[in-house]
Amino acid sequence: MLMVARYHMHFLEEGKWSDHMNDVGEKNDCLFCRIVEKKVPADIVYESDDLIAFKDIEPRAPIHCLIIPKKHISTINDIDRSNSNIIGLMYEAAAQLARSFNVDKEGYRVVMNCNSNGGQTVYHIHLHFLAGRQLSWPPG
Ligand code: AMP
Ligand code: ZN
Repeated sequence: MLMVARYHMHFLEEGKWSDHMNDVGEKNDCLFCRIVEKKVPADIVYESDDLIAFKDIEPRAPIHCLIIPKKHISTINDIDRSNSNIIGLMYEAAAQLARSFNVDKEGYRVVMNCNSNGGQTVYHIHLHFLAGRQLSWPPG
């Protein structure tokens, strides 16, 4: 108990307690964090220090991958100056995937859903990478 209190105090002093606890709480039951930790299997098509990409389990196009940061971020609403560099890296990974799947010239779509109206079902940000067929617009 004392240990826990000291642990909390440390983060309170640092002013990071609530952020840290949210992070730990969310990571504990986050499917995509489990995939990052390789505790849940996935068909990984790309990996760097900061990101992984894997095939979507329910593909909506002949090529459907998800590009995710290794660090847990729940939604686009949690993007700020401190972590927004990851978004650029996710788009760089998308361009690299497009080249490796040889769909860079014919085209593809990347999309990130946010919260209920956006259709988000997994609360660890992910960039859908869809390719291999003509995609309709606007999305449903
Ligand atoms: P979204 O609805 O935008 O949050 O997208 C979540 C995506 O994750 C969906 O396209 C799901 O098919 C996909 N998904 C859910 N569980 C897994 C899993 N274990 N491995 C790969 N993709 C998954
Ligand atoms: Zn996560």
